[in-house]
Amino acid sequence: MNTIGHFMAGHAVAANGRTQDVFNPALGLPAAKVALASAAETTAAIETAHAAFPAWAATPAAKRAQVMFRFKALLDAQAPRICAAIAEQHGKTMDDAQGELMRGIEIVEYACGAGELLKGEHSKNVGPGIDTWSEFQPLCVVAGVTPFNFPAMVPMAIVYGNSFVLKPSERDPGAAMILAELLAEAGLPAGVFNVVNGDKEAVDTLLSHPLVKAISFVGSTPIAEHIYKTGPANGKRVQALGGAKNHAIVMPDADLDAAVSAMIGAAYGSAGERCMALSVAVCVGDQVADNLVARLKTAIAKIKVGACTQTSIDMGPVITRQSQEKIKDYVTSGVADGADLVVDGRDIKVPGFENGYFVDPCLLDRVRPEMKVYTDEVFGPVLCVVRVGTLHEGMALIDAHEFGNGTCLFTRDGEAARYFTDNIQVGMVGINVPLPVPVAYHSFGGWKRSLFGDLHIYGPDSIRFYTKRKAITQRWPSSGIEEKTLFAFPNTAR
Ligand code: NAD
Repeated sequence: MNTIGHFMAGHAVAANGRTQDVFNPALGLPAAKVALASAAETTAAIETAHAAFPAWAATPAAKRAQVMFRFKALLDAQAPRICAAIAEQHGKTMDDAQGELMRGIEIVEYACGAGELLKGEHSKNVGPGIDTWSEFQPLCVVAGVTPFNFPAMVPMAIVYGNSFVLKPSERDPGAAMILAELLAEAGLPAGVFNVVNGDKEAVDTLLSHPLVKAISFVGSTPIAEHIYKTGPANGKRVQALGGAKNHAIVMPDADLDAAVSAMIGAAYGSAGERCMALSVAVCVGDQVADNLVARLKTAIAKIKVGACTQTSIDMGPVITRQSQEKIKDYVTSGVADGADLVVDGRDIKVPGFENGYFVDPCLLDRVRPEMKVYTDEVFGPVLCVVRVGTLHEGMALIDAHEFGNGTCLFTRDGEAARYFTDNIQVGMVGINVPLPVPVAYHSFGGWKRSLFGDLHIYGPDSIRFYTKRKAITQRWPSSGIEEKTLFAFPNTAR
């Protein structure tokens, strides 16, 4: 069986110690093994990145961007191979893997504008013969720690002149290794981008090593919070994106057919394993709820669940046997707590894939806010319906939840939409758009316990996160002007 090692100094490095199985979730069988880096191996990757930094930081931004142009062309050309790796180890459909990769490619396209992004700010004549400008300088070695559900998101810190150590999820490490290989083929100098596969030991080393200046983490909230507390205590800049529970409010005036079609994809696409997945439909009034639940039930019956290798599949398995059991337990707890189980997807067998980690779509009605299936992130194909009396009641429910990643309002009422976007305490908001993932040139991030840190990922915030600002003030006095010594604090009046 193939063992996935690491990628350092421009080439693959074999595993040299602990390993663990990487599963094919559709088959429920090991597909490969992955190396689990020791502290020494992780340190070697950090030192490799550190050695590569000075030359890369000194490379003109336009030349760094040219690497990204070539990388984008390689991603386009190699898309089927990357998507196959994602689909095999994650379990998602090829269509979904393609969509995810396209999002990654959009971020590479944004990074191709590095020259424009790094222009800085300039003020002439801030005083007599004095000019001031601010520029963005790279941090040095930065690290990324990523979750299992978005393995192909490309870390763009490198285009700003940093060198990078990526620690992908040990559950589906294949795509990250292909990205490293393609970056090398695109002409990225050896050592600028390194992949360390591993678990807590690798992450703890990244968190404590003094050469690592920043960590961008995406994963579950308890680990995100741990990273956010530990990294800054060790002198690092940290952004840590955590879990979610995304609500959509359905108003009495909403176009229900359009809402149902959008909600089905958002709730059950990628088997609900998305941080922007729709988990709660908040219906304003019983009539809306009764109508919505009836239509959702009909639409769910048409969803085809299966392996990514099968044709016309809408939804694949979940990532592990433990996730499968956990999701079913949440549904069972909802029933025990008094919710109505309208569609029960707990017992499913896909012919030919009997050991796969499949969960069919589940729909629970009359869910109440104190139930565990409502409070916790289920991260599976489970949609809860909560009934409220008014828009304000629905918004209060969303605001009271610990997470604030994404939310949506289905309505035809512009005034309600404006009130919702102005006031809801959530980082990414949709109006009749249930998966409001911002495009590459707007930054992505949630509020409350969905994001720890000040800056969102990609888009304009990425330059703030991955660079340090330097303000330079320069004076070239005209000859013949007498210099005066100033003892007072310099100010523009003098
Ligand atoms: P996870 O927290 O288990 O793992 C994420 C990363 O942290 C992995 O690389 C893993 O190896 C590492 N890790 C795990 N335990 C650790 C520990 N004790 N110490 C140090 N590192 C550790 O998350 P997951 O199950 O891979 O991914 C699903 C979660 O990610 C969900 O909660 C989902 O909402 C979240 N997520 C959030 C966003 C977002 O943008 N907010 C995006 C994608 C996923």
